[in-house]
Amino acid sequence: MAKVYYNQDIKDSLLQGKKVAVIGYGSQGHAHAQNLKDLGHDVIVGVRKGKSWEQAEKDGLEVQTVRNASEAADIIMVLVPDERQTAVYEEEIKPGLRAGKSLVFAHGFNVHFNQISPPSDVDVFLVAPKGPGHLVRRTFESGAGVPALFAVYQDVSGQAKEVALAYAKGIGSARAGVLETTFKEETETDLFGEQAVLCGGLTSLVKAGFETLVEAGYQPELAYFECLHELKLIVDLMYEDGLSGMRYSISDTAQWGDFVSGPRVVDADTKARMKDILTDIQTGKFAKGWLLENQLNRPEFSAIERQEEEHQIEKVGRELRSMMPFVKAGKKEQKEVVFS
Ligand code: NDP
Ligand code: MG
Ligand code: MG
Repeated sequence: MAKVYYNQDIKDSLLQGKKVAVIGYGSQGHAHAQNLKDLGHDVIVGVRKGKSWEQAEKDGLEVQTVRNASEAADIIMVLVPDERQTAVYEEEIKPGLRAGKSLVFAHGFNVHFNQISPPSDVDVFLVAPKGPGHLVRRTFESGAGVPALFAVYQDVSGQAKEVALAYAKGIGSARAGVLETTFKEETETDLFGEQAVLCGGLTSLVKAGFETLVEAGYQPELAYFECLHELKLIVDLMYEDGLSGMRYSISDTAQWGDFVSGPRVVDADTKARMKDILTDIQTGKFAKGWLLENQLNRPEFSAIERQEEEHQIEKVGRELRSMMPFVKAGKKEQKEVVFS
């Protein structure tokens, strides 16, 4: 079994007396900054003027330009989008990154794929929550946490591992469990997970199921409930109790259907294609394509995004969800409903 670190295994004294700059105030940024602050750490947010700046101020945080925040902090957590990190790092973080500081990431992408080469006199590590940023904040507020990985890339101080663990504790992740990894392993598994299973695999599965029912003449509303809405209920059971726990709650008819039909949907060919996807990640082919797509101002990304937004499942879903306001109760603006 891998060693899993929990709150009681970690000294948070290593963050005391240190200033943490959270660069970016988006999905991960707002969660890291607010969780650290709630646990009494010295946090400053680094962003450019605009919506994020205003939001961070509204949330009661000290806000500075990325350049000033990087100058002022001992620990610099880079939470701007991966494809923007290199430019922000070169222009605004690097000038303030003096010897003895820590440069931290929540995903190994840019270091692993050679986009950012940190100087040799700073600690470099990652703390990567295994969940969307909004849940990093929401679970923290409910007294729980999202598990995280940490990895040390460069240890100049001799304390990089302890500081990484203290940071993970500071965002609430050590309530759920923190695992050690490497930049390579975190980067490759994170990309694979989101492409093959969590995001890409799942959205394609949902759409194919929905289209199959609608093309066979069934009502789109029914197909939506069956193939998308109910997914959360099933996934919640898997989250709580694993595959067998979920199967315990469904009918035996559903379980028999799971056993005989599941492997027909995801078969050996699917797995072979998953291996191809993993190979493209490992060889850097995926990273290269994504970096080039960004350099070209995202022609393909934008076109696919538009097409996907026009899919019938989205239109039907918007209508049905407007009649189920409780579905959105977990969203930030209504979180009192969930946690009161
Ligand atoms: P977001 O897309 O949510 O980050 C947006 C933030 O970055 C905004 O505050 C935005 O400010 C700021 N920003 C963008 N460009 C600049 C710039 N040029 N200068 C200053 N600020 C800028 O990012 P994520 O939170 O999704 O991702 C951050 C990191 O966390 C990535 O490395 C990602 O891989 C990793 N990660 C993300 C997860 C997630 O749940 N999303 C899960 C685990 C890891 P503005 O409002 O001004 O545009
Ligand atoms: Mg991930
Ligand atoms: Mg990711």
